[in-house]
Amino acid sequence: MSTDRVPVMIPWLGEEEARAASEAVLSGWVAQGPRVAAFERAFAERVGAEHGIAVSSCTTALHLSLVALGLGPGDEVVAPSLSFIATANAVRYVGAEPVFADVDLATGNLTAATVDAVRTPRTRAVLAVHQGGVPADVPALRAACADWDLPLVEDAACAVGSTVGGKPVGHGALLATWSFHPRKLVTTGEGGMITTDDAAWAARLRRLREHGMNASAADRHASNKPFLESYLEVGFNYRMTDIQAAVGLVQLGRLDAMIARRRELAARYDALLHDIPGLTPVRDPAHGQSNFQSYWVLLDEGFPAGRDDLLAALAEAGVSARRGIMAAHLEPAYAGHPRAPLPATERITRDSLILPLFHTMTEAQQDRVVAALREQVRR
Ligand SMILES: *Cc1c(COP(=O)(O)O)cnc(C)c1O
Repeated sequence: MSTDRVPVMIPWLGEEEARAASEAVLSGWVAQGPRVAAFERAFAERVGAEHGIAVSSCTTALHLSLVALGLGPGDEVVAPSLSFIATANAVRYVGAEPVFADVDLATGNLTAATVDAVRTPRTRAVLAVHQGGVPADVPALRAACADWDLPLVEDAACAVGSTVGGKPVGHGALLATWSFHPRKLVTTGEGGMITTDDAAWAARLRRLREHGMNASAADRHASNKPFLESYLEVGFNYRMTDIQAAVGLVQLGRLDAMIARRRELAARYDALLHDIPGLTPVRDPAHGQSNFQSYWVLLDEGFPAGRDDLLAALAEAGVSARRGIMAAHLEPAYAGHPRAPLPATERITRDSLILPLFHTMTEAQQDRVVAALREQVRR
């Protein structure tokens, strides 16, 4: 019915996922097992990486990545404030300090120049985000980080299937982290992944997610001799279940269709919003293509309505839009945290809104979103 609420995002899940989850349950192997291993292989291959390490979320993927880099108290990690708060929090988990760099106004991403502006002798890593699926300028960031001799971690939570120079985000990444939360494209309910080309890091990350044990539960299961495990370092329980991985394998098979549909809907938004003055929709950057995990519009300064009023009016019209991407430095958790000026970050978080976009969205639903926006501009 046309008067139903238009949600901002709904995952695209169906009978196949339900069947796969059911098969995993009935197999009797519900913790990390063969389906997790299969999902890791399929995912790594899809994003062009040698190794995939499945974990419980992107937050835990970020945490383990920073542990693997050996970061700790006294170390600084350059990261955007403009990101879901998990990005900054992961730096705090290892006792290091996130140093917030500003972002490019068009893409919402760090650039080599914004990182350079806040780098200090204590900087030990750069944590870049592919925000809302918009790929960061990976070649430029990698070249700059190589010059500075700093590892680059890529928070690719939103960016599965986005591309840079025709290659998937994740290709050639030192460490990339991924999310399977329902707000992203591929979902397993909760879940995450780390990808890397480095076999030694992959082995360490597998160990860290499983209490620091020298052999996985799967290895022990496969062994026909009694296995005396040992714990080589302090690890975590950050495992994914086989039920989640079963769903993830089906979801991965839908990814190309998801991206095609999202790009089609984004292009249609562009066309429909074209004649509303004062709105700048997020676009593909010159260096790559977005999967349009988020489609946001930035309101020009002097736009006739304030962002929060616009959100309220859309809600009134049955459209669930969202405020733009948050900025960690404006949250109580980061009050008093030292930082450089972040003008683009503050502009985007204040003046942008994320419009509904989901695989099963109809043109009629999209027309309602645009009509509701147009109505506000007319007032
Ligand atoms: C969603 C998101 C996360 C957190 O992912 P979870 O899987 O929910 O832990 C981290 N970083 C970014 C950029 C995100 O969008």
